[in-house]
Amino acid sequence: MNRPVFRFAPSPNGRLHLGHALSALLNADRAQAAGGRLLLRIEDIDRTRCRPEFEAAIFDDLRWLGLHWEEPVRHQSRHFADYRAALDGLVRRGLVIPSFASRREIADAAAAAQAAGRPWPRDPDGAIVFAGDEAVLPAAEIARRRAGDAPMALRLDHEKALAAAGDTLFWDETGAGPCGQSGRIAALPWRWGDIVLARKETPTSYHLSVVVDDGLQGITHVVRGRDLFAATAVHRLLQRLLGLPAPVYHHHRLIVDESGRKLSKSAGDTALGALRAQGATPAQIRARVGLANLTAGR
Ligand code: GLU
Repeated sequence: MNRPVFRFAPSPNGRLHLGHALSALLNADRAQAAGGRLLLRIEDIDRTRCRPEFEAAIFDDLRWLGLHWEEPVRHQSRHFADYRAALDGLVRRGLVIPSFASRREIADAAAAAQAAGRPWPRDPDGAIVFAGDEAVLPAAEIARRRAGDAPMALRLDHEKALAAAGDTLFWDETGAGPCGQSGRIAALPWRWGDIVLARKETPTSYHLSVVVDDGLQGITHVVRGRDLFAATAVHRLLQRLLGLPAPVYHHHRLIVDESGRKLSKSAGDTALGALRAQGATPAQIRARVGLANLTAGR
């Protein structure tokens, strides 16, 4: 029988905090309970924000928490060729469009539309939806850039992608979405517009690399924070287009601060390193994130 495969996939762009501890420990507990494997993946595609000292701290914090993972650890920054191959396949199928508008130009166009009383669509995270350079730049400027400049980004043409995907997409959710959704969830990827697959400065994107890696590593169970629940729709679309199987998803509750906000990587006093320096034990961290002490004494 194939053993279930779990992964914890942090980005080394800050120190791990209590929210990461919950995610990592849930992955470890569930892998153990299922007789499965636990992988650690370093999601370091953003070379400007990721730093070696944050990566070293991730290893230290996770070891201190008592986690054991398989070697070798996959670093996304060493596998850009895998994401490029997946992207090239989508390009060959005519599902990718180059876009020439910068982030600033897109933001300005949305702000101007909103100021003029024309609401601009937002994705489930509240970010501006992009659906074509035409909404952002004058036609002559688009033509000029097409003739000369390299595109700012390569994006998935969501209309063509949905047509190519065929049927409605679903995923199996064993956790819950923000409104308590559980069980068989219908994916709504169109809500994200034409998502970025690669940028001028980064040759892949979070969505593309996470889906390619989950497929290549044979991940059967994705356990991660509820903030990624809605994005799973995009992941299911990419999995279908790339011929990859769907893992089972478990989106867990988020740990919030006193004002009810999700913890951020700069959340000093909830950083695991800071708590450890103040004398906290791994058992106390488990208790603080609401997990029973299954592994007490380890
Ligand atoms: N690297 C992502 C993060 O640190 C997590 C990706 C995932 O679990 O799918 O938020």
